[in-house]
Amino acid sequence: MRIFPFALIPLFLVALLLPAAQASEGPGGLLESLRGEPAPGALLIGKTAPGTRVQLDGKALAVTEDGYFVFGFGRDDEGPASLTLRHGDDTSRYDITLAARSWDIQRIEGVPQRTVTPPAEALARISEEASQVTAARNTSSSLTGFREDFIWPVRGRITGVYGSQRIFNGEPRRPHYGVDIAAPTGTPIQAPASGQVTLVHDDMFYSGGTLIIDHGLGVSSTYLHMSEILVAEGDSVAQGDIIGKVGATGRATGPHLCWRLNWYQERLDPRTLTGEM
Ligand SMILES: [Zn+2]
Repeated sequence: MRIFPFALIPLFLVALLLPAAQASEGPGGLLESLRGEPAPGALLIGKTAPGTRVQLDGKALAVTEDGYFVFGFGRDDEGPASLTLRHGDDTSRYDITLAARSWDIQRIEGVPQRTVTPPAEALARISEEASQVTAARNTSSSLTGFREDFIWPVRGRITGVYGSQRIFNGEPRRPHYGVDIAAPTGTPIQAPASGQVTLVHDDMFYSGGTLIIDHGLGVSSTYLHMSEILVAEGDSVAQGDIIGKVGATGRATGPHLCWRLNWYQERLDPRTLTGEM
């Protein structure tokens, strides 16, 4: 067994600065490359030889036929994580240290009070909608859209970032897990990468017009507050396809797209795939 006890961060930073063609200079052993900087909210994309078995903290990860695998770290994940690759008699282990991140506090006034403290009669609806979202994000497919260079679905002023602690109408609520992009109602939204539509809902209690796209291996993206959705469940989309329009439906104070990224139920930061706008 070969053990690589070092923190991988310096190698990954080098990889991030290189053009994609050269990023295959990997950390050695069975891991050929790893895209992304290990940090809370990050999605990482690994490449190994076909047929290699991969475990993260002892749990098996799906590996594509050509050797790609993905994993992500939640907002409050502090690490370290342990990645193990096995091929035949060969084993490589990597201890992954997570970079520290800090979070903003965001105060939002003027959202409808019933979306801050929902009335009792809305609770069953909220719970039903949450389970639809959970089910869509549990989709495990062999699609490969996660490997594409994600583009921004909408361009505009960033009005909310991943991870911020939020206070609605003076009351603390859950952290924000998306990126908010302000744009006029009706602005077209593009698919940031190819995938298949797994959820379409015209009017969820919190998120209004809501759409989820599966990009493969548990990676999904979610679009909230849409005024119009132009695709249906089961549709395949290509990167750049118009999937719907910006709106202000659900718990929103004005028209914007709230864009989210998940690895199964782990909520990630979409900017770890696009970089800054
Ligand atoms: Zn948002």
